[in-house]
Amino acid sequence: MKIIIDLEKCTGCGKCKEACPKGGKIWTIDKKRKVAIPSNLEYCHLCIICASKCPEEAIRIIRDDNYEKGPEIEENP
Ligand code: SF4
Ligand code: SF4
Repeated sequence: MKIIIDLEKCTGCGKCKEACPKGGKIWTIDKKRKVAIPSNLEYCHLCIICASKCPEEAIRIIRDDNYEKGPEIEENP
């Protein structure tokens, strides 16, 4: 799976981190750049709460059944 943030839309408001059950483990808010950065996606259980709570609709979650085998982030999605 991948979590893609639309950097044009994201305001760094932090609502994704607040809403995510694993928020502190997955989400970092870069206050300088005003963007949310997801990482440690092995903690994500694809509940989609973050995407549903984002007021800017900036989060796209891509499910990938081959996650175990594949990379977390693709260079050219
Ligand atoms: S909730 Fe949306 S706009 Fe706010 S920091 Fe997260 S991704 Fe960015
Ligand atoms: S899908 Fe759920 S667990 Fe995964 S980052 Fe979003 S809120 Fe957190």
